[in-house]
Amino acid sequence: MFTTRPAAQPGKFKRRAATAVPEVSRRATPGPGGANVGAVKASPEAQLRLLELADLDAELGRLDQRRRSLPEAAQLELVNARMGELRDGIVMADTELSDLAREQTRAERDVEQVRSRIDRDRSRLDGGQVSAARELENLQSEVQSLLRRQSDLEEIVLDAMERGEAAEGRREALGTEQATAGEQAAELTTRRDAALEEIGEQAAKAEARRTTVAADVPADVLTLYDKLRAQQGVGAAMLRRGRCEGCHLSLHTVDLNQIRAAAPDEVVRCEECRRILVRTADSGL
Ligand SMILES: [Zn+2]
Repeated sequence: MFTTRPAAQPGKFKRRAATAVPEVSRRATPGPGGANVGAVKASPEAQLRLLELADLDAELGRLDQRRRSLPEAAQLELVNARMGELRDGIVMADTELSDLAREQTRAERDVEQVRSRIDRDRSRLDGGQVSAARELENLQSEVQSLLRRQSDLEEIVLDAMERGEAAEGRREALGTEQATAGEQAAELTTRRDAALEEIGEQAAKAEARRTTVAADVPADVLTLYDKLRAQQGVGAAMLRRGRCEGCHLSLHTVDLNQIRAAAPDEVVRCEECRRILVRTADSGL
């Protein structure tokens, strides 16, 4: 069983500077066997393996972070979003083009009708078929009105043609941009997939190495390590010159003395961050 820290002792867990004077009196009653020494045991070699494990886990974490923040993936998302806008824009432009084409055709047909009506009226006038002055006047007036109507309709045809040309230009620009975006998306996909593959290969190597290293660590120590890692990201840290490399705080003399007194196969913990502390020749004990 692992020793747990008493809950309500304000100030006890206050972080302290590496150079702070040890507060020997901060623990009223040291627990049996000392607060830093847990019940799990592992040979010094197996404990050193924990540091390798921590390095590998850090590497796996970095690889995972890289995998989730690939710039190619972010760029691809932007390009795909733009492609979606372009698709919508092209559908709208195509609809506009066919509307304008219909409008133009209708106006051209109307022009034709008016023109043939004018022709008919003129041939009646020219053929001398109309003799009554009143009827003649009416017919001439109708021709005048039809000519105005023809001119209006020709304006409509012209306007539809001009708008059609402008829409054609916009449609073409959208198509060009779509083609470019498509090429970009393909290139980004290739680059993203290559990066993912490389990360995957590195992760697989690290995983394989981790399996080998973990096999050298006793199961209960590994369970503790994994639990600590899940809680705070790093499960084990080196004790270097009296300092925990996990939380970067110097240990109090009382804690260092406890660790000094602990057998080499005792798994000791940092009083501050609770990580497993691994002793090396450089630990300053
Ligand atoms: Zn620590």
